[in-house]
Amino acid sequence: MRILVTGGAGYIGSHTVRHLQAHGHFVHVYDNLSRGHAASIPAEIFTQGDLHDLSKLDHVMATNQIEAVIHFAAFAQVGESTKNPELYYRNNVAGTISLVEAMKRCNISKLVFSSTCATYGNPTVVPIVEETPQKPINPYGKTKLIVEWMLKDLCAAHKWSCASLRYFNAAGASPDGGIGEDHNPETHLIPLALSAAAGRSKFLEIFGTDYPTPDGTCIRDYIHVDDLANAHRLALEKTLPGEHLCLNLGTGKGNSVYEILNAVKDITGKAVPFTIGARREGDPPALVASCKKANLRLGWEANYKDIREIITTAWRWHQSHPDGYKTR
Ligand code: UDP
Repeated sequence: MRILVTGGAGYIGSHTVRHLQAHGHFVHVYDNLSRGHAASIPAEIFTQGDLHDLSKLDHVMATNQIEAVIHFAAFAQVGESTKNPELYYRNNVAGTISLVEAMKRCNISKLVFSSTCATYGNPTVVPIVEETPQKPINPYGKTKLIVEWMLKDLCAAHKWSCASLRYFNAAGASPDGGIGEDHNPETHLIPLALSAAAGRSKFLEIFGTDYPTPDGTCIRDYIHVDDLANAHRLALEKTLPGEHLCLNLGTGKGNSVYEILNAVKDITGKAVPFTIGARREGDPPALVASCKKANLRLGWEANYKDIREIITTAWRWHQSHPDGYKTR
């Protein structure tokens, strides 16, 4: 298939680009580099451009004879979305409207959309199934849910095939250490814990130890970025015309913050210095996916089932790229 990957220079996007190419697909990346890294993708398959630049979008789709789109380009920080919601509605919602209008003009009707477990808000029952009511508690989750609604209507009206993939906690890096996670600022637990273990920061602050979980810290479902990439390819290949397929992507297993710090210690051989801080606003106690539907519909399951294997790949990337893509 000839696939346009928006946001393909980002963390999950760049791993998906590699995965698609390895499976024989033609890939072109469209990214404005506001958060992504040109170094994470081959230069010859890249166009720098914005979702709001309609003529550029049309041109890229037409000249590359695009047949399908995987749409990652979005902002994804919960805290930032609370402080600057207009940024999120403009980029995530208006940007996607531009994209689907360009797709319509170019007769492209296949789309895989990067959604999130943040659309569920504070679910009371885990593991979370796809039918769990979606009640997002921050602007980031709301913008993703609005797009899901729009895609559902497009599928019904125009017989498009769309998949909304609701990721849990993306983690890890390419096993060869060539590409990995590089956010600025970094807010995610695993890269921050690795930095603290490596002595590059003084300590990691644990956001709350008084949650109703066995050890008092939050539980998350960490899923390897290459397993996410594989699910995008399968969703593209298997979604039917007129269908809006919504799938959770996780391992089905949760790990607490303390469990992550222990795993980091085992892998790096260094204890993670930490302090205990207050709860972070908007953090639900436990988010764990039920992955039954993805397994049934795509034949997909996570290859990386053990958090230690995931952290091993993140550590390899961290060691070879201590300053991310800026490392020479
Ligand atoms: N967390 C933490 N300290 C940090 C960053 C994260 O204790 O410096 C906790 C956070 O409260 C959450 C878990 O680690 O329970 C995963 O957070 P992350 O930001 O990696 O992902 P999120 O679940 O917010 O998408």
